[in-house]
Amino acid sequence: MHSAIPDNLEQIRRRIAGAAVRAGRAPESVRLVAVSKNHPAEAVAAAYAAGQRVFGENRPQELRDKRLQLPVDCEWHMIGHLQSNKARLAVQTAAWIHSVNAVDLLQRLDRVAGEEAGGPQPEAGNAQHATRNTKRPVILLEINIAGEASKSGARPDAARELLEAALRSPHLDCRGLMTMAPYDAPEAELRRVFGGLRELRDRLAAEFGAPLPELSMGMSDDFEIAVEEGSTLVRVGTAIFGERDYGKTGGPG
Ligand SMILES: *Cc1c(COP(=O)(O)O)cnc(C)c1O
Repeated sequence: MHSAIPDNLEQIRRRIAGAAVRAGRAPESVRLVAVSKNHPAEAVAAAYAAGQRVFGENRPQELRDKRLQLPVDCEWHMIGHLQSNKARLAVQTAAWIHSVNAVDLLQRLDRVAGEEAGGPQPEAGNAQHATRNTKRPVILLEINIAGEASKSGARPDAARELLEAALRSPHLDCRGLMTMAPYDAPEAELRRVFGGLRELRDRLAAEFGAPLPELSMGMSDDFEIAVEEGSTLVRVGTAIFGERDYGKTGGPG
């Protein structure tokens, strides 16, 4: 059932490298986040066996459950909309949080990250070690460039305020921006969205003197265009793991 995963990964890595080279970029400047939401831990294990180490999930509980079943050298990214009552679980279990879209969520993440850092540190070799982060969470600010009401990112004109708050948050490591493009949009619209995120990043980086090197953009249907437009993190699910079975888990999320 998971036998296609190694070939899928291989093909996607090749297509990412091709898109990077077309854009005059080094293939290593793009990382593949394998989005395993709604797929079982066995599928993640198959990707791990094929060399994949970075995984993305939409729900903190599902992320934690899979993290407990996979080797400790996986890097877990929380990519989906985050409710503030799940902020602590996200900080404990995700190395990266791509979906920071509001100042109150950001402040809550900073507070719980500070509390977690001040708490008892897991000892090396202790079973707890695998379940807790010891580094500052890396965050990305999610911006709704496309302007679709259904997307959960902050409006572009709120990005300054969000970044100001992020740079005032000592327990968070803000490294860039994230966006989602509309489904089935024509290529010109995809380039407008992805290029728009890159330009916003360039303006903010110049204004604040903050490097902001990371751009999380591109999914199964549009990751090559995203790489050509400057993506450093592509979030690919379906093209690696196949269609998601929402019947088992009760809905997308
Ligand atoms: C599900 C999801 C993805 C992956 O989408 P695919 O089309 O399956 O590649 C990427 N980013 C986010 C935020 C998602 O929720």
